[in-house]
Amino acid sequence: MRMIWVAAALGTGLMAGTPLAAEAPGTTYIHAGRLLDQPGREPRGPSTIVIRDGKIAEVRDGYATPESDAKTIDLKDSFVLPGLIDMHVHLSVDDNLLRSRLEGSGRDVEDIFVIAQGNARKTLEAGFTTVRDLGGDGRTTGTLRDAINSGVIVGPTVIPAGTMISVTGGHGGVNGLNRTLTHAVAAERTNICDGPDSCAGAVRAQISLGAEVIKFAATGGVRSNVAGGLGKQMSDAEMKSVIDTAHSFGRKVTAHAHGKEGIDAALRAGVDSIEHGSFIDDETVKLFKASNAALVPTAVAPIAALDQARRGDAPGPQLAKAEEAAAAHAASMARAIKGNVRVLFGTDSGVAPHGDNAREFALMVKAGMTPAQAIKAATLDSAAELGRPIGAILPGREADIIAVGGDPLADVTRLEKVDFVMRRGVVHKADGKRQPFPPE
Ligand SMILES: [Zn+2]
Repeated sequence: MRMIWVAAALGTGLMAGTPLAAEAPGTTYIHAGRLLDQPGREPRGPSTIVIRDGKIAEVRDGYATPESDAKTIDLKDSFVLPGLIDMHVHLSVDDNLLRSRLEGSGRDVEDIFVIAQGNARKTLEAGFTTVRDLGGDGRTTGTLRDAINSGVIVGPTVIPAGTMISVTGGHGGVNGLNRTLTHAVAAERTNICDGPDSCAGAVRAQISLGAEVIKFAATGGVRSNVAGGLGKQMSDAEMKSVIDTAHSFGRKVTAHAHGKEGIDAALRAGVDSIEHGSFIDDETVKLFKASNAALVPTAVAPIAALDQARRGDAPGPQLAKAEEAAAAHAASMARAIKGNVRVLFGTDSGVAPHGDNAREFALMVKAGMTPAQAIKAATLDSAAELGRPIGAILPGREADIIAVGGDPLADVTRLEKVDFVMRRGVVHKADGKRQPFPPE
């Protein structure tokens, strides 16, 4: 009955009303063998988490006896921690590049929504209870966010950026199509801009389509079908206009940036974070520190993009760029970590496979972070950047909770196999298995 009502509401585009099955009513006790309630601090021993109406109510030492009407979840053999946050995914992007190239021109927005729905569930079941979607069709990610929050479909909390702002011919532009298709596609696009005023308009268009964060392409990218390299593409004045406009609407701004000139210009213009950051030198590190901007390295992405390009799945112009980015990325990431740049967790899933998000942890540790720092980046620190009550198991926060076997603080790859996933108090995975939704 309730589900039918929500489905009807979806059709109108109105997602008003109280969240239904996405949040669990009632009280649940979790008995946790070890509990990393506040990433960055030492984990606790045997503990009890009390959850009421989808939120953390209390954390107690030892295994407390539940109230008579409460459910109990036994995770005494597990390591329990907050749900993970991925700051850079593309849920509506098919991670099978060859298939998407073959079928892409036949797909409509409805087809893309179905792809996004599948990717959302995979991502949640991998332990990622919140994601920032940094580019796709604005309506698709907005509708996906609302449908998940209303309990119509299963997925993580989505913070959408709408479509990435780009200059004509840039990384988010319409490139490599014939003349007829270029005109047709460009006519529908709201993200392409040239000149500061035009770029302010593109930002406002994303916001009007539901963007909660703004992303722009400061430089070229591996996946665009132009042989233009990875250098700066947007002018200083355009970047400043994008950033100031987004800030005036209370939105944070993140920049896709590979080449140093583009990263530096975005940092000077006041951007809140940089995605990828493939070419970072000591001067760039200083600029990061001066503005306290964050780096979202997405280390799995250049590796995945290079694999695809070498296999021949990507169009010709991409191979040289993929080689260039992959060769420089690891050293730049290590330099940023050594220089104490604020690093957040992000994967660029869509380029890398959806559901394999946790593979990023091992690369963060390889680049110089401790497992504890990498986990904090994917929980508490990303939560702070998003300004959301998630990322820690503390009273008042969302009951977004996962569990793994072993100790991820000793071996961070333990997070690649998540056994238990709860989002807003609803259990979506237990003993490594998908749980019925809505819960029985
Ligand atoms: Zn991306």
